Amino acid sequence: MPDQRTVSVLGLGAMGRALAGAALRAGHRVPVWNRTAGKDTDLVTAGARHTATPAAAISGSDLVIVCLLDHASVHSVLDPIAAELSDVAVVNLTSTTPGESRELASWARAHDIAFLDGGIMAVPDMIGGPAASILYSGDAAAFDSAQQVLELFGSAEFLGADPGLAAAHDFALLAAMYAMFAGFAHGAAMLRSAGVGAAAFAERAVPWLTAMTGSLPWQAQFIDSGDYRTSVQNLHFNKAALDAIVRAGREAGIAVDVLRPVKALIDEQVADGYGEQAFARIVEGLRG
Ligand code: NDP
Repeated sequence: MPDQRTVSVLGLGAMGRALAGAALRAGHRVPVWNRTAGKDTDLVTAGARHTATPAAAISGSDLVIVCLLDHASVHSVLDPIAAELSDVAVVNLTSTTPGESRELASWARAHDIAFLDGGIMAVPDMIGGPAASILYSGDAAAFDSAQQVLELFGSAEFLGADPGLAAAHDFALLAAMYAMFAGFAHGAAMLRSAGVGAAAFAERAVPWLTAMTGSLPWQAQFIDSGDYRTSVQNLHFNKAALDAIVRAGREAGIAVDVLRPVKALIDEQVADGYGEQAFARIVEGLRG
């Protein structure tokens, strides 16, 4: 193995186990640690080294992968071993907010730790496969030296030196996904009241939503330019549509909680006199 490295993995939940497995399959030395014992049985059988403490797991490590529950758990595991991590590259793949990622990067800088933050755009089964993508930001030199290992998990893209950038992208993508899933739940509830099952709805929703996502670059042009003038489907048009969809939900006897905030954003822009402008203008109502 020309470039065998020691890749430590702290945290063996579903995702940590998948990451450790990918590093192992590529022939790296993989010491693993988890708070609760017994999560590393399969990994140890496959060649990972069981360790009883985080300090033992990171000893002699070239790269430390951290995949825990949340920001607080990262501090509770890393704080006691900060001195031992000096000059080691730490990659945090725990989901943290952009602010939390920046805080972790400051903490790492204060302890001479090279820090990268990552946002995993995949579920554990996808790790190591062609559809997995992981976004990184923070220490560019750490990314360059770790990239060969990081590519084992999924395509690895470095977004920039701001350690919060990967998390910002991660949560922006997840926000879009959750809003879409909630819209699907609303549609499924409506059709259920008409005696139509969710499976039949899903068959129609997939091609419809796929086609509709094709309009995102067009919507992005309005948002990036700040120029919302349009000759098609302005906010008056969209208000009429949303109002009718809300009425249809009420007719069906279902709650319209999913649509209420969308309707409110449209109504606000129309009330402010922007009814002739594009739907994308609702982003202006999302300033804090
Ligand atoms: P799991 O719930 O399966 O595992 C959580 C891990 O965190 C366990 O190893 C758990 O240890 C550990 N943990 C929790 N609290 C502490 C603590 N205070 N001190 C030490 N260890 C702690 O989650 P996943 O593995 O699925 O996810 C891990 C991270 O990856 C999360 O931030 C998640 O958002 C992110 N992620 C997960 C995805 C997924 O599809 N699963 C997708 C994208 C990102 P113990 O076994 O002792 O409880």
